[in-house]
Amino acid sequence: MDKMKQPVGVLKGIGEETAASLSEMGIATIGDLLEYFPYRYEDYRLRDLAEVQHDERVTVEGKVHSEPSLAFYGKKKSRLTFRLLTGRYLVSVVCFNRPFYKKQLSINQIVTVSGKWDKNRQTITLQDIVFGPHVSKQDLEPVYAVRGTVTVKQLRKHIVNALKEFNRDLPENLPEQIIDTYKLMGKQEAVKTVHLPLDHQSLKHARRRFVYEEFLLFQLKMQALRKVQREQSAGTGHVFAEAGLNAFTDSLPFELTPAQDRVLQEILGDMKSPYRMNRLLQGDVGSGKTVVAAISMYAAILSGYQSALMVPTEILAEQHANSLLALFEPFGVTVALLTSSVKGKRRRELLERLAGGEISILVGTHALIQEEVNFNKLGLVITDEQHRFGVNQRRVLREKGESPDVLFMTATPIPRTLAITAFGEMDVSVIDQLPAGRKTIETYWVKHNMLDRILGFIDKEVQKGRQAYVICPLIEESDKLDVQNAIDVHAMLVHSFSPKWNTGLMHGRLHPNEKEAVMREFSENKTQILVSTTVVEVGVNVPNATIMVIYDAERFGLSQLHQLRGRVGRGSEQSYCILMADPKSETGKERMKIMTETNDGFVLSEKDLELRGPGDFFGKKQSGVPEFKVADMVHDYRALETARADAAKLIESKAFWSDPEYSHLRDDLASTGVLEGEKLD
Ligand code: ADP
Ligand code: MG
Repeated sequence: MDKMKQPVGVLKGIGEETAASLSEMGIATIGDLLEYFPYRYEDYRLRDLAEVQHDERVTVEGKVHSEPSLAFYGKKKSRLTFRLLTGRYLVSVVCFNRPFYKKQLSINQIVTVSGKWDKNRQTITLQDIVFGPHVSKQDLEPVYAVRGTVTVKQLRKHIVNALKEFNRDLPENLPEQIIDTYKLMGKQEAVKTVHLPLDHQSLKHARRRFVYEEFLLFQLKMQALRKVQREQSAGTGHVFAEAGLNAFTDSLPFELTPAQDRVLQEILGDMKSPYRMNRLLQGDVGSGKTVVAAISMYAAILSGYQSALMVPTEILAEQHANSLLALFEPFGVTVALLTSSVKGKRRRELLERLAGGEISILVGTHALIQEEVNFNKLGLVITDEQHRFGVNQRRVLREKGESPDVLFMTATPIPRTLAITAFGEMDVSVIDQLPAGRKTIETYWVKHNMLDRILGFIDKEVQKGRQAYVICPLIEESDKLDVQNAIDVHAMLVHSFSPKWNTGLMHGRLHPNEKEAVMREFSENKTQILVSTTVVEVGVNVPNATIMVIYDAERFGLSQLHQLRGRVGRGSEQSYCILMADPKSETGKERMKIMTETNDGFVLSEKDLELRGPGDFFGKKQSGVPEFKVADMVHDYRALETARADAAKLIESKAFWSDPEYSHLRDDLASTGVLEGEKLD
């Protein structure tokens, strides 16, 4: 019988009520209790006040230096104050609502007090007092999150009891070889240390073990899932003539960059293999992902299949459809566009042709994953800007064909740490090189009061034949948020530039037909300036636009600013990005500064992750980024990388699936359902 699986009730002192409270905290078994970790520690070490920060909790030993004075106020409230000489310092100690201490204190007595240090007033607000010298019972006292009727003190006691009775039965779940290699603390010692730390050093050591353990268990799931998905899903082994594909590649007006070529080979390799491709393609804006996607789609077509390209916005769908049409026209490939604005008879006809196999490439928005959409023989699915699609939408799309190859493209450079957690079960390709001859976009950060100069600059550039975007965070004025809105800014620009230049307005509330019209006018240079909300963020391609002005830039994340900036710099002319921002916080200022210093999307995304945290990076709902108990993806990324490599090796080894040494890891895997190919979401 597994002792760890026993209910907490077997411990003395845990009755029904306590067990109920513990169960609210997710603690049902002895094992759960032992692995319920503190979220912080009360620090009772004696410290020199010089090292203590304002508002920090501190414990000091000292001599009472003045007669304690007691004052009553309100109904039952009291305040006791005395001076304390501790080391070189003479400080005040205040103690609220414990009048009885007055009798216990006398001048020159040695006491140990703990409390919050107010550096400005040189005062400690007392929380605990020991009438006598500091006795080091436990310098670091764990603090747990509690619920129900259980107090922290009681929980501590229960955990100590559990440690006494069961710690020696706690099995080691990591293989010996890994423990040796990384000199990790053993499980029993680590669990004990977390609850009863001797000092910071051993606590750090214990934490290091749990970080690795947590990452390894997680990465094992990812790697197992990847293996299972590959092996259980007989994919489509595409067969096509290289010569046919080369004819298409040769028809492009440029040579592929080495990075595009490498990534393309990775994708084609997957497509030819009998396994189903499950690949993430990352590449900065303008790195040429779309072309790679087009070539891959053509390979699928040559092998007798249809391809689908799903994108998050209608504008982008139209742009992609148009550029694919141009590319494929000479090759007799039928490209169709399906969005929610394709209705009625046109829609019915399109769906019929799709089901009949007359359409080879279908481009569209979410409309692609509706039930009524049936392909004849879908062999390749590509989604652009995939992080905007939820995990489920990705799955539905994949299930449209028999078992099509799937490629997820994103221009939001995902920090490696996040990519291997959120997309750990996928293969990753990166286009890490821009086509030659691109000029770096010059980025400036200005205050909003520089507007006149910016308008002058736009005027000058437009006179040279260029175009400009002006991005605003909101559509309409809002009482709550003091931000410029697209409609007002549009009115202001019309006033400034009319009749010399035309200014268009684009935002998410326009009818799709209106959007298309606005976009067309801009791409045909009928409007020179386009005021827009962030709907133009993704993928829009107007190479003649060289100015990107962003209002209230501090409201956007770094990755989003980088995306917006990527709308310019797409042609051969020098482009500019002007960030208008008056950030109040230091982080805000830092973010603006970083934008002006680097054009590297990966650097920015790492920085973004650091400044905003993983939850915010994708937006909570779709993130698929797991919560870790002890580990921190950003700060412990080295351990994450190590664990990933180890997990990959283990999953591929025979020993892992048979040797007793790995039985705990195997059991953990089996309990999650990944071995049946279930996704962890
Ligand atoms: P992404 O989708 O990665 O943002 P695109 O595929 O839209 O980038 O490419 C951006 C622009 O660069 C397009 O105008 C495209 O035709 C052009 N382009 C793509 N690959 C190359 C290349 N190897 N050499 C020159 N131009 C390229
Ligand atoms: Mg693109």
